[in-house]
Amino acid sequence: MRTHVAIVGAGPAGLLLSHLLAQDGVDSIVVETRTRAYVEARIRAGILENSTVELLRSCGLGDRLDREGDPHRGIYLQWPGERHHVNFADLIDRKVWIYGQTEVQRDLGAARDAAGQQIHYEATDVALHDLGTEQPHVTFTDADGRALRIDADAIAGCDGSFGPSRAAVPDLAKQTWERTYPYSWLGILADVAPSTDELIYAWHPDGFALHSMRSARVSRFYLQVPNGTDLADWSDDRIWDGLAARLGHGQDGWALTPGPITDRSVLPMRSFVMAPMRHGRLFLAGDAAHIVPPTGAKGLNLAVADVALLAPALTALIRKKDPGPADAYSDAALRRVWRCTHFSWWMTTMLHTGGADGGDPFDAELQQSQLRWVTSSTAGATGLAENYAGLPIEF
Ligand SMILES: Cc1cc2nc3c(=O)[nH]c(=O)nc-3n(C[C@H](O)[C@H](O)[C@H](O)COP(=O)(O)OP(=O)(O)OC[C@H]3O[C@@H](n4cnc5c(N)ncnc54)[C@H](O)[C@@H]3O)c2cc1C
Repeated sequence: MRTHVAIVGAGPAGLLLSHLLAQDGVDSIVVETRTRAYVEARIRAGILENSTVELLRSCGLGDRLDREGDPHRGIYLQWPGERHHVNFADLIDRKVWIYGQTEVQRDLGAARDAAGQQIHYEATDVALHDLGTEQPHVTFTDADGRALRIDADAIAGCDGSFGPSRAAVPDLAKQTWERTYPYSWLGILADVAPSTDELIYAWHPDGFALHSMRSARVSRFYLQVPNGTDLADWSDDRIWDGLAARLGHGQDGWALTPGPITDRSVLPMRSFVMAPMRHGRLFLAGDAAHIVPPTGAKGLNLAVADVALLAPALTALIRKKDPGPADAYSDAALRRVWRCTHFSWWMTTMLHTGGADGGDPFDAELQQSQLRWVTSSTAGATGLAENYAGLPIEF
């Protein structure tokens, strides 16, 4: 097969890239290891920042988001005895939207169907070749067992943290940075109306907790747990008791309403950046190039921002034979990646405590001091708002 861009991975980065390229008249073929049903059902991110929403609207993907998405003006930050609202809309005139990654993925799938996009799901043995030439190619075995090859002008590595694209860049051609945190998140989905109008981020001596939501009837919760936590050790009662204690059930009359748990998982927390985000004719986007802990709600938004920069760069390279934007892609994307990496690290280290191990009392005082500053100073709150609600794509 022959196309302009071979895209490895049909997650949000891969499908949005194929959508944006098609609007500019650039063809692509997408290769994905999982089934379509699996990709569309994966429970992951749920918060879209302002620039993500604007981009999705501008490329014709905003209709259902505008109908069903839930715009939030800000978030609550709390610690035992106190809850404060940080109002992004008042501070910086920007909002965030509650709209699950599953919904974004379905909207992208429907749009690509309508356009007749070629996507090979359930591919195996996906491998990248000749990246240092102007005619790289991808080989794979399709769902029917046929060995296939895609020749392209460029390859987009949108295959997340465990795909072959990052690994295809030789060690001597890349630099990586990594931070593993000493805690994980136990996340649940519950069939119950949220007990709050906007997200609650809670600092607590037992560990961090987050009350998020997916819709008017489905709530999402997270509890900080030690690395290596076994889900079998967390009964429904233990989860709800932990959430009630950390989120402040009873505080100023606020009540947490439990409900049937429909999904549960443990998510390790990691920061990772690889540079450059390009090797020859391979361009990396999204989790393939960087991972952030989810505390700042940046993973999905960063993937969108990457492909918003990558699509015009590949269009210029392929249609106008202008390599300038492609040469500038990695530096432009990394500028934003590092901003979001810092913000995600900052939110994570401000809110996660020693938990069951007790932790360092000095750290705990510093965290509470930061929280008091962010919630009482306009300058502090504005910094958080700017980063959380999202900087412009071209930041
Ligand atoms: C378990 C989990 C929970 C998360 N929860 C949150 C959250 O609560 N909040 C938040 O903000 N962010 C969260 N994130 C982060 C967010 O979901 C990601 O940042 C986002 O999905 C990145 O999109 P992407 O397209 O770059 O990568 P992905 O969504 O990972 O897509 C990559 C695609 O490549 C495919 N692939 C892998 N290997 C191959 C191969 N060999 N060949 C072809 N295709 C391949 C994968 O199957 C996948 O479909 C979570 C991530 C994970 C992994």
